[in-house]
Amino acid sequence: MGITVHQRIAIITGGANGIGRATARAFADAGATVVIWDRAVEAGTALAAEIEATGQQAVFADVNIADSAAVQHAVAEVITRFGAVDILINNAGITRDAQLVTFKHGELAGSMSEVDFDAVIDVNLKGVFVCAQAVAPIMMKQARGRIINAASVVGLYGNFGQTNYVATKSGVIGMTKVWARELGRRGITVNAVAPGFITTEMTSQMPQATLAQMQAHTPVGRLGTPEDVAHAYLFLAADESAFINGAVLSVDGGLVLGT
Ligand code: NAD
Repeated sequence: MGITVHQRIAIITGGANGIGRATARAFADAGATVVIWDRAVEAGTALAAEIEATGQQAVFADVNIADSAAVQHAVAEVITRFGAVDILINNAGITRDAQLVTFKHGELAGSMSEVDFDAVIDVNLKGVFVCAQAVAPIMMKQARGRIINAASVVGLYGNFGQTNYVATKSGVIGMTKVWARELGRRGITVNAVAPGFITTEMTSQMPQATLAQMQAHTPVGRLGTPEDVAHAYLFLAADESAFINGAVLSVDGGLVLGT
């Protein structure tokens, strides 16, 4: 028994940095052809070149996942070049944290802005929908496919200061279950991963005290690495995982148990 993604065509959104970057490397190492979509052009181009230099296959495209026309165009390019889309890793995501409202000295002192609410919904929720909808018809024709969505531990249990982000991650879990039902008979499985706190650019913006607290509550005694999550994506994307559908795989070192 192995993990077979060999010669599969895998699109990885947000693949230029953090978890996506580790995922692109892991899939390339396992023999997949990696298509990296990101807005970070320099990092994405460099990563694709780095992977290609090792004799593995990778391409980069500047794609905003929230822009359905751009995504449709990018999918068409993948089909022209490689003839298939076997795996979609819906990994790109952003945060714009703020409390719903803050109160000081009996006065309203701040709130989450509508702009920040909409920005996170646009990328983390609509972007996942747009990318899945763009590849699903191709996967249906192939009668084979894997869609794996980035949720989060906070999508299951909530988090202070993350109304917008938690709404998207809970929504991603919901969409995963709907698509698992709608696409399962077509040979397409849809699953989500729910990472705990992983050391990337995203978490580097969090207060050190919060991260230390998260680590203290994690039974394995450390924060996660991008490779920890990349491995879970790889596992769910493998041919051998055909009977795993609609699952939410926690990759959090047991964080929830420790709280
Ligand atoms: P990151 O910020 O390190 O990388 C995210 C990547 O997504 C970046 O390269 C960014 O340019 C790209 N991106 C952002 N908006 C985009 C858009 N509109 N179109 C295309 N690309 C876009 O983040 P990360 O920590 O690697 O997180 C990856 C995923 O894992 C996200 O969905 C995140 O919500 C989720 N997650 C992360 C953690 C964590 O602790 N880091 C925990 C749980 C879930």
